[in-house]
Amino acid sequence: MGVVGAAVALPPSREVLGLAGWWLTNDQPPEVTLHVPPGVSRGQIVVGVTVGPSPSWRFLDALVDGRPLPPGPEIPIDTRQLKDGEHVLRVAVRDGSLRRNVRWVEATFRSDNTPPQVFLEPRTLVVEQGKTLLLQARTSEPAQVALQRAGTSPLSFSEDRGVYVAFLGVDPSLPAGRHPARLVATDEAGNQTVHDLTIEVTRTRFPSEQIVLPAHLLQLLTSGEYDRELNALTEYYSNSGNGKLWEGTFEQPVRGVISSGYGIERTYNSGVARNRHLGTDFDVPVGTPVSATARGKVVLAQPLAVRGNAVIIDHGVGVHSAYYHLARLDVRPGELVNRGQLIGLSGATGMATGPHLHFEIRLAGIAVDPLEWLGARFL
Ligand SMILES: [Zn+2]
Repeated sequence: MGVVGAAVALPPSREVLGLAGWWLTNDQPPEVTLHVPPGVSRGQIVVGVTVGPSPSWRFLDALVDGRPLPPGPEIPIDTRQLKDGEHVLRVAVRDGSLRRNVRWVEATFRSDNTPPQVFLEPRTLVVEQGKTLLLQARTSEPAQVALQRAGTSPLSFSEDRGVYVAFLGVDPSLPAGRHPARLVATDEAGNQTVHDLTIEVTRTRFPSEQIVLPAHLLQLLTSGEYDRELNALTEYYSNSGNGKLWEGTFEQPVRGVISSGYGIERTYNSGVARNRHLGTDFDVPVGTPVSATARGKVVLAQPLAVRGNAVIIDHGVGVHSAYYHLARLDVRPGELVNRGQLIGLSGATGMATGPHLHFEIRLAGIAVDPLEWLGARFL
């Protein structure tokens, strides 16, 4: 506040004479710009005020929705004192010339200090190891919704026709029992609502099997290559397009009987290595056409040491499907494929003891039972 730039103490000079001329003749009010925060604000905000080329001026008035505030180059506003919604800030600045020209400027900003309400379906979260639970959240205003669980990255919900949806995949190795989780809804202004939840995981009896691998395939397991490759693929599985790309149901990618089920605990060469089978194997001869299980975008199509020629498709909303050990790849990364579209031919590439198609469904990176998805309509 106050007079800025008045040069009364300077010796007479061209500037001073110029200033005197300005003082005497100026009829242009100062240029004033209000810097309101973009988007929706909450809590305390500060609106900056800049005044354009004018040798002297003073702040006269500041009004929010007609209520006075102390004017100045920075106007603090406590939006908690205001109703949620749009507000008008008006500021007056007067110059120091003879005519005392006054400029009024106004700007609008939006505030929101009310956390969103969020309602989750289903109310009680009960799901088997290795299975899928569709979560649907409705909110009182647009919000980011996420489910947080210790030890995992947050599961983000995606908007689908006005409802926020997320597919909760339960890792087959997650112990049965009650697991705490938090549902967090954050509106555009940053107001947050947190609901503490419990996910009850029930036990699935997974069979076990013994597998004998030849030395060169066993080496892929014992050398750590299997895990290294899985970690590298996590990057693909963890990123998903926001929108749902498919309609209807997921279809079986190949005609054939199941030769090895999801979740089986495998022991290799009498205990030299162990892991869990994270997909479903279909017993098909080399060269059998393999099709996309649903519409989606190819994010990986390349040879891998363990998984052989592999295709990964992102269906959006955190859902991916994967096809391993192919003999031939017929798609490229970035390609959009429809349900039933040929993506390659089955084979026995990578760590395979014989020709088959290994098929996976991953939800935010977690491999779940693919059979639950085939023919089912989750959304
Ligand atoms: Zn398999």
